[in-house]
Amino acid sequence: MGSVRFACACGQFSFLDSTDNRSYVAHFIPDQDWDRYWTAIDDAVETSGPTAAEKAAASMALRRYRARLLWQCPVCGSLYVEDESGQPRRFVPEAATVPRRLLQREP
Ligand SMILES: [Zn+2]
Repeated sequence: MGSVRFACACGQFSFLDSTDNRSYVAHFIPDQDWDRYWTAIDDAVETSGPTAAEKAAASMALRRYRARLLWQCPVCGSLYVEDESGQPRRFVPEAATVPRRLLQREP
């Protein structure tokens, strides 16, 4: 069980922030970072030095990249997008037929 990061405005769901594999959370990379991110992966795989320490340093550089988060309330379907300051910004579905588990990988 994780700690509560914030509660949905509908009042029926709380988003946790200290657990892994949450079905209502996704990490996103802005398109303006996309090429740079993949270049860093290529560099880590193809051009980091031959030693284990150099490979570890290249890997850690990738891990320092902080993707922003998306959350979707499984009750009301509101989608929250984390802004640059870390605040979740709410977007409300236009219809009740919008799926409530858009971020879920597996049932
Ligand atoms: Zn909600």
